[in-house]
Amino acid sequence: MPDVFDRLIGQARAVSLLRQYVRRPVHAYLVTGPDGTDLHEAALVIAAALQCPDYGCGVCEVCRLVLTGADADVTFVERAGLSWRVDELREAERVSRRRPLGPGYQIVAIEDVELAAGPTPSAPALLKSLEEPPPRSVFVLTAHETSPALATVVSRCLEIRLQGLTEEDVAAIVAADGVDDAVARTAAAAANGDVHRARILARDDALVQRAAQWRRVPDRLDGTPAAATRVIDEIVRSLDAAAAPLAAAQVEETRRRETTARELGVRVAARRELDATFKREQRRFRTEELRFGVRVLIEVYRDRLRDALAEPEDARSSARARAALHALDTLEESHRRLATSLDEGLLLADLMLTLGND
Ligand SMILES: [Zn+2]
Repeated sequence: MPDVFDRLIGQARAVSLLRQYVRRPVHAYLVTGPDGTDLHEAALVIAAALQCPDYGCGVCEVCRLVLTGADADVTFVERAGLSWRVDELREAERVSRRRPLGPGYQIVAIEDVELAAGPTPSAPALLKSLEEPPPRSVFVLTAHETSPALATVVSRCLEIRLQGLTEEDVAAIVAADGVDDAVARTAAAAANGDVHRARILARDDALVQRAAQWRRVPDRLDGTPAAATRVIDEIVRSLDAAAAPLAAAQVEETRRRETTARELGVRVAARRELDATFKREQRRFRTEELRFGVRVLIEVYRDRLRDALAEPEDARSSARARAALHALDTLEESHRRLATSLDEGLLLADLMLTLGND
C-alpha cells in the first residue's frame, strides 16, 4: 500500500528500516546522506510517520498537516547564521519540553547538525537535550557529514543512512513534483545526482535549449580560432543566464535569514561567510553546468563514432572514427579537469580549439 515513505525515492533500504523504526519510536533520529540527498524531505516523512495513527499513511489529515509544515507539534528549528548558535539550540530544547497539543509527539527537527561542530562548537548544548528528553518528545536531526566532533551526538541517535541517488532516481523525484518527464530527465542528467540542483534546473525553461546549444557545438567548429571564440562567448553568456535562478534563490535565502534574525532579535551572523558560501555555490553551479555540456558533447561524439564504425571500412570512415575517438579522449580529459580546480575560460579554450581540429 502506498504510504508517506514512497516520497523517499531511491532509498528502499532506509525506507524498510524506517517503516519498522516508527512503530517503536526512539527519542532521537539522525538522518545522514551524501550531498544531493534530500535530508529535509526525509525528516518531514519521519515526522509525519511518527504523528500519523497509521504510521505514515500519507493521506490522512495528520500526515497532510505535517507534510505542509502546519502541524503545531512539529518544529523545524531556524538558524540565522551559517553555523548553529548555542542560543538557537537552547531554543530547540525549550520547544522539546513543551507538551504536545495533539495526541502525537512534540517533534523538533534540527537540520545540518554538522554545523554545530566547528571552531566554536554549539553541539554540547544539543547533547543536554538528547540526554534527558521528555517522554513524548522526539528529535529528528539531519547531517550530510558527521565529523568525529559529533560522535557523542551521533551515539545518542538512531542513525538512518540515505544513499547517493542515481540519475534515474533524481529524474523520478523531479517528475514527482509534477514536472514533465522529458524535462525531469534532462534536469537530472545536468544535476549529477543532486536533487536540489535538479529542481532548480527543472524550473529553468532554458535547460533544454542549453542542451541543444551544446549539441550544435561540433558542427559550428571549423578549426579556426574565430569559430572557437564565437562558440565560447555564447557558452559563457548562457552560463551566466543559467546561474540567474540560483542567484535569485540566494537573494531569497538572505532575506529569509534576515527575517529569522529579526524575529529572534539577533544580528544576521557571518554575513561575509554567507556571501562566500554563495560565491562557492555559484562556482560549483557553473562547474556542474560545464560538466553537463561536456557530457552532452560526449554523447554527440559517441554517436559519431558509432555511425563511423557502422559504415563499410574505408579511408574516410576510418578517419572519422579516429577523429571521434580523439574528441572523446579530449572530452574525458576535460571531464576529469572539472573535478579539480578549474579556470573556466582556459578549459573552454582548450576544449574548443582541440575539438575544432577533429
Ligand atoms: Zn497518516
